[in-house]
Amino acid sequence: MVRVALLFVLIIFIARAFWRLVDGLIAGISGQPSSTRAVKRGVQMVRDPVCGVFVIPDRAVMITDGRRQLFFCSAKCRDKYRAPPA
Ligand SMILES: [Zn+2]
Repeated sequence: MVRVALLFVLIIFIARAFWRLVDGLIAGISGQPSSTRAVKRGVQMVRDPVCGVFVIPDRAVMITDGRRQLFFCSAKCRDKYRAPPA
């Protein structure tokens, strides 16, 4: 029984090494490390505090309010946020 368990562990070890190799090959072909691919797959969305719409930071209008960064769907919303409430 001990021998079977050892064989099982060895198979898992080889399989993991194999998949790491495959992943490395894919990263080499696409020219990107696997870590950046994972980030690109799941684009993080940010919320417009004025209208509540979710926007992609790359396309949003950004301002820095103190320490935090705020993202708006348009310059209109940004101006609304900056303007004091009537
Ligand atoms: Zn907006």
